Parts: sequence; structure tokens; C-alpha cells
Amino acid sequence: MSNARIIDGKALAAVLRARVAAQVSALQGTIRPGLAVVLVGDDPASAVYVRNKNRETEAAGMASFEHRLPADTGEAGLLALVDSLNRDPSVHGILVQLPLPEGIDSARVLRAIDPAKDVDGFHPENVGALWTGAPALAPCTPRGCMAMLAEVHPDGLRGKRAVVVGRSNIVGKPMAALLLAQHCTVTLSHSRTQNLSGVCREADILVAAVGRPRMIEGSWVRPGATVIDVGINRVTTEGGGTRLIGDVDFAGAAAVAGAITPVPGGVGPMTIASLLANTVTAACRQAGVAEPEVRAQQ
Ligand code: NAD
Repeated sequence: MSNARIIDGKALAAVLRARVAAQVSALQGTIRPGLAVVLVGDDPASAVYVRNKNRETEAAGMASFEHRLPADTGEAGLLALVDSLNRDPSVHGILVQLPLPEGIDSARVLRAIDPAKDVDGFHPENVGALWTGAPALAPCTPRGCMAMLAEVHPDGLRGKRAVVVGRSNIVGKPMAALLLAQHCTVTLSHSRTQNLSGVCREADILVAAVGRPRMIEGSWVRPGATVIDVGINRVTTEGGGTRLIGDVDFAGAAAVAGAITPVPGGVGPMTIASLLANTVTAACRQAGVAEPEVRAQQ
């Protein structure tokens, strides 16, 4: 039996997108935020993400620029495109879809993006700003997770024990930085962590970002904890089809948790909504105007 509150990422993302759209409309006549998404090669999953990003960007009233480059594009060609987007005043956010084809140094490409336009928050300058408390563009997935936590914990996260499982640059590490900034006591655990189940059981807030289906069992969850499942794993069903599941055993965890995100329909939708929010933030900073204070209309 599930007692936990199910955190509806779809509904929350809709609220966030409506807020962004209201901000874009309030900025009319001052600036029109623009997002450029670059896709190299023809990875089908990446193509779907890019299409969704462009659709959502336009739906929010922003300008969307899609750049598709063939798989055999060299690093120099990609760097030249990034350079031209850095200089283009109608582009306020640049996102290079990962993974990049072999032979292209991703870290080099990410470093070439103007940090002011780095809406993915992966540039070392933004990473440093995030950890030192300077104004940063925070990576979209962790930013989305924080918005979900704010919904469940309206009085804040001060003093809570947070455990993040997974230490990637995209999710785990920036998630830990954002939780720390909200005064959590943070444990960043990973594949070499000893007694991982015991570590997880200490968590008031448990964030799973591993990429291993149902690795986190219900018995690892502290009663009443808030569980954020970032994992997206495609598994084969008995009928021979496929479906998406998270890193957490949802049924087992929902029986003990206080609140939990489902997969799909949890963190996933929040990621693109956070990208739109980052683009507005970036555009306002570049234009030297304050971000409009708006109320989302649903
Ligand atoms: P990654 O492969 O870069 O990192 C995985 C991390 O998990 C590593 O730090 C590793 O140390 C840790 N890990 C691996 N095995 C472990 C184990 N047995 N015990 C403990 N830790 C272990 O992955 P990522 O890019 O951080 O993504 C993680 C998951 O989140 C994936 O399923 C990915 O698809 C998903 N994801 C979802 C979104 C979203 O929008 N919802 C965004 C990004 C990633």
C-alpha cells in the first residue's frame, strides 16, 4: 500500500512553463529570449530530446534555433558554430546535446560556450559559481529536482540529511551543491560507497541518479523520507515491449516514503521546464534587466 505523496512532475512542469511564458510575455518589447540547440549526428533519443526542447521553447513564446550537424562533423566545425552562436545577439542560451560523436572532445566544446549563454550549466565557470554561491546557471535536471523539493518542503530544507546516489557532473554533483546551498547536510554517494543501503537509510531526502533499474529498494528508504528518482531506464516487458522505470523500486519505496517522484512523469518533464527558466534568466542577465516577477496562470 502506498502512503506516500506522489510528486506530479508533469503538473509541476506545466506550472513552471506557464510561469516562463508569462515572463516572456512581460519581457515583450525589451528582449525576446532565444535558445539555440545543437545536435551532432543522428542518435534517435537525442533527436527526440532536441525536438521536444524546440517545441517547448516556441510554446513559451521564445525564439528557438535548431542546428543539426552531420555525424562526421569535426570538432573544428562544431567549435566554429559555437563561436558564431556566442556572438549572435538573438541567442541567449546555447545547448549542445550530449553525447557527442566519438572524436569530439565534449569538455572542450562545453568550455567554448560563453558562460553567460551556458543554459545547461556545464561550463567550469558556472560549476565554480554554483559551488561558491555566486550567481550561476544551474544544470537543468538538478534545478528541476530542487523545484520539486520546494513543493514538498515549503518551509525549506535547512538541516535535513540529504543523500545523493551518483556523482556525475550532470546530475549528482550539482544536485549536492544545490542541496548544500539550501543548508542540507549532504552525502554524495557513488559506486564505491560502502554500506550504500545504510547510507540511504539516513536520508530525509534521497536523490537517485545512477542509471540502474530499481537498484534502490524500499528497505533502503527511511520512513517519511522524500525520494527523488532521476533514473530513466528502458527495460523490456514480459510482452516483449519496452517501458521506462527509475532507479528506485517505486512500489517498495512508496510504501515507506513521505513523498516520491514517479518514472515517467516525475523529474523528466521538470528538466525541459528548467531549461526554459534558465534561458529567461540568461537573457535577462545579458540584457541587464531584472527577471519579471510573475504568477503562473494555469
Ligand atoms: P552517469 O552514468 O554519468 O553516472 C552514474 C553515477 O552512478 C556514477 O557517478 C556512479 O558512481 C554511480 N553508480 C553507478 N553504479 C552504482 C552503484 N552500484 N551504486 C551506487 N552508485 C553507482 O549517469 P547520469 O548522467 O548522472 O544519469 C543517471 C541516471 O539519471 C540515468 O538513468 C539517466 O538516464 C538519468 N537522467 C535523467 C534525467 C532526467 O531528465 N530525468 C537527466 C539526466 C540523467
